[in-house]
Amino acid sequence: MPVTKGPGMTSRQATLGKPVELQGVGLHSGQTTRLRISPAPADHGVVFVRTDLGPEARVPATLAYKADRPRRTAIRNGDAEVHTVEHLMAPLVALAIDNALVEIDGIELPGLDGSGLDYLTALEGGGRVELDAPARVLKLPRVVAVSSPHASAVALPADHFGVSYTLKYSSPHVPVQFYSGLITAETFKREIAGARTFCLRQEVEALQAAGLGRGANLQNTLVIGDDGLPIENRLRFEDEFVRHKVLDLIGDLALLGQRLHAHVIGVRSGHALNAALVREILAAAGGGAQLDAPSGCIRADETLQCNASGMWLLDRLAALGAQLAGNGAPAELRAVEQAHFKRAGREGEQLSFNVHLLADEPGNRCLGTVRVGEESLAEARFAFAEPAGGGP
Ligand SMILES: [Zn+2]
Repeated sequence: MPVTKGPGMTSRQATLGKPVELQGVGLHSGQTTRLRISPAPADHGVVFVRTDLGPEARVPATLAYKADRPRRTAIRNGDAEVHTVEHLMAPLVALAIDNALVEIDGIELPGLDGSGLDYLTALEGGGRVELDAPARVLKLPRVVAVSSPHASAVALPADHFGVSYTLKYSSPHVPVQFYSGLITAETFKREIAGARTFCLRQEVEALQAAGLGRGANLQNTLVIGDDGLPIENRLRFEDEFVRHKVLDLIGDLALLGQRLHAHVIGVRSGHALNAALVREILAAAGGGAQLDAPSGCIRADETLQCNASGMWLLDRLAALGAQLAGNGAPAELRAVEQAHFKRAGREGEQLSFNVHLLADEPGNRCLGTVRVGEESLAEARFAFAEPAGGGP
């Protein structure tokens, strides 16, 4: 089945027509893994399963499960981690495939040729099938911005999904590169999917010393020499580096767990800042939850006008729980223990979120519920890391 529709051209959720398989060596781990990407029902989202750990080792590809690992996007649920998901997540976003089950028998996705091209081709081979459910689209209510000393990322309200990116290295070997465009299945395939990951020649030793790049070679990773060109390789695009940063940014934005209507501008932003932007976008879309310090409860006064998927509800609960468990700074999520969904939120419904600490239980645990009136839509228990410098 040809894939002809991109985000914004359809209002229904979609999944794959049939399973597809890939295998290859992880860029950082050097381990060979097998990947099977299968159709999934509406409101399922993109969920990874570490088949080598068992069928329970499920990790949804959403912000609540984000783990901090250098130079890649990683997600984690308890002991189950999945690394370097961004090169698959970006084509899923571009093709507007909202639901998929991704089984993997190891920790890191195959690096393949260092780009998103083989993933895109595989997904196109599986075909895109629309489901009988409206697409979850996050429409940004206001401008959202995050920054670090040398980088920034901004999301502007828009009725489409677009990305602009400025690449600027302190190295004189890499000229400033700029990309800007609408992201559709067509533009992604033509301009972004084939752009490969890269690093500076000067970075190679430090990466290897850190145990990274074990599966990297001069073919799947552009190593930029002193002339600004890849060593023993040829560029696919004159500005291939910035195009790869756009690929990474799209893949990182996928952790929103829903389609995004916004124009996102990145200036030197990387995985960590991209994740911070996702967090702020979710906070902006969800309204302002207030911490009620004396009772330790979140005030249930959020009004969400979006179609809230089960995965999104869980994400929101986890974010509120992290605030509560973290004593100021958000606590790191360790595990989602038990999660029950009855149904997703519907357009225009007023969803009430409530999260409270389980003070009688060991560790730093929260119970969260989402209700519409008296009806419970979702309930989940979360375990968080102890807050830094915390303790009563
Ligand atoms: Zn990348």
